[in-house]
Amino acid sequence: MSDRTAWLTEDLEALRSQGLYTTIRHIAGPQGPWLIADGRRVLNFCSNNYLGLANHPHLVTAARAAVEEYGVGPGAVRTIAGTTILHDRLEERLARFKGVPATVSLQSGFAANLGTIAALVGEGDAIVSDELNHASIVDGVRLTRAARSVYRHADPDDLERAVEAARSAGAGRVLVITDGVFSMDGDLAPLDAVVAVAERHEALVMVDDAHGEGVLGRGGRGIVDHFGLHGRVDVEVGTMSKAFGVMGGYVAGSTALVEWLRQRARPFLFSSAVTAADVAACLAALDLLEASTELVDRLWDNARRFKEMMAAAGFDLGTSTTPITPVMLGEASLAQAFSRRLFDGEAVFAQAIGFPTVPRGKARIRVMVSAAHSRDDLERGAAAFARVGKELGVVG
Ligand SMILES: *Cc1c(COP(=O)(O)O)cnc(C)c1O
Repeated sequence: MSDRTAWLTEDLEALRSQGLYTTIRHIAGPQGPWLIADGRRVLNFCSNNYLGLANHPHLVTAARAAVEEYGVGPGAVRTIAGTTILHDRLEERLARFKGVPATVSLQSGFAANLGTIAALVGEGDAIVSDELNHASIVDGVRLTRAARSVYRHADPDDLERAVEAARSAGAGRVLVITDGVFSMDGDLAPLDAVVAVAERHEALVMVDDAHGEGVLGRGGRGIVDHFGLHGRVDVEVGTMSKAFGVMGGYVAGSTALVEWLRQRARPFLFSSAVTAADVAACLAALDLLEASTELVDRLWDNARRFKEMMAAAGFDLGTSTTPITPVMLGEASLAQAFSRRLFDGEAVFAQAIGFPTVPRGKARIRVMVSAAHSRDDLERGAAAFARVGKELGVVG
């Protein structure tokens, strides 16, 4: 290797010494409440597969049938090679599920944020964004020429200050963007207050519902349903890679919004769509969600039970009000040691999360409880946390 890349080796070494180097485990077999990671059977506390759908037989059967009927690849981007009627059906079904006029599906939630923000605002406009918004929103904002500012996390007063400042500076369109559920803390955006501020100042509201879908609202219809704000949120971004257990993203809103994104969202125009198998599996996930609230109810019961056990053991669970359960540890090196000890000694797979995913000094282990965990799984997991917590002096 040439000297020109020596800095990479040095910077990697720096990450290792700061406890910020992420080690990726190797998975064999499906995402279940237990899985095989690095050759060992371990309790899975990492996956965003909230409802256990990633290896659900109904989804697997639907995906297999779609491969038989449509093959494995989409050919080219939809604007050039056409779009399958399966994709059309998914967009219609998602619109019905979310209670909006229309949706457009994209390759991922990440692509949906990148494509949507840049299609809605540009030079002369302004974006006002929560300081803890997801990286895909941050990057989407960077792709525009709009003026940008951040407001203090989940603070409607500071949001109003920022929107007023944008208006005073003569902004054309003002776009307010927030995560619905904040993925590393598990707290909710005060979406009712955010919408009220936006309505006072004629601003557009965009919410990223990645961790709300299949989790919040009636039968998992998401954060807009949770707050009863139907018709008052202009843009909803969603993902199929979390509670839906599959892959893909989408944007939900008015017919004109969706039509515009089909003309102007760059990931739609310049990147191929998800496969027919993905789409068929998403449709099967919608079948299950529309048929019964059982999985969503079980997810919340499991989360409540697990959090109670962890709080009783003395852990700091931060500000979460959703199934996302951050176990706050502080130093990245402590979080990494804790996670390693859980995996090696307790057969519990729970990943440490540090900078840049969360701020420095706020490292944590984020536990993702799912509807697929049994009561015994949750008790075993909480007991393992308590043992390691005592050993490492985190709890008394
Ligand atoms: C996970 C996540 C995304 C990205 O979704 P993908 O479909 O995995 O690309 C976007 N926004 C938020 C808030 C997320 O948590």
